[in-house]
Amino acid sequence: MADLKVLITRAEIAKRVSELGADITRDFAGQSVIFVGVLKGAAIFLSDLARQVKLDSTFDFIGVSSYGNRPSPHQELKSGWDSTGEVRLTKDVDQSMKDKNVIVVEDILDTGLTLTYLKKLLMARQPRTLKIAALLDKPSRRKLPLEGDYVGFKIPDEFVVGYGLDYAERYRNLADICVVPRE
Ligand code: 5GP
Repeated sequence: MADLKVLITRAEIAKRVSELGADITRDFAGQSVIFVGVLKGAAIFLSDLARQVKLDSTFDFIGVSSYGNRPSPHQELKSGWDSTGEVRLTKDVDQSMKDKNVIVVEDILDTGLTLTYLKKLLMARQPRTLKIAALLDKPSRRKLPLEGDYVGFKIPDEFVVGYGLDYAERYRNLADICVVPRE
């Protein structure tokens, strides 16, 4: 893999995550929230974000099929999606969402297919509120009209790794968010 280029530093991430935590704390003052992390990419974001939210909270995790191991980071692997653009559930949440304040925590909002699917799935569980926290957003790639409620950074159409995001399962442990250069 060619050299990775830092796009967002660990200091910038920490500052923004703390701002998002303050927003959530304010918006849900006096209430409890359930953070539902989308595996695996959101694990690091969830753990940092949840510690910046000064509210009674619980964690849960949900798994969906993803791009998997792309042949190249700039080539989409279609096998994760069926022909209608549906996403496959690989792990459901463990607790009831009924009448709860649910915050779905995702690493990146790209085409919007994953979060549109998850929103529909979780809305059927009748939560009191359902919000989306996405660390990154690539608005230029959107195929379905969906916006995050708490968005860290809007980024251009580049393939990024680090801070939980992988390429073929690697680089999740990088502290900064980096761009994989196009060959
Ligand atoms: P969407 O369903 O919005 O198209 O895509 C969401 C998923 O695609 C993310 O959760 C993530 O797994 C993957 N994805 C989209 N863009 C990137 C990227 O730049 N880097 C990495 N590592 N994954 C991405």
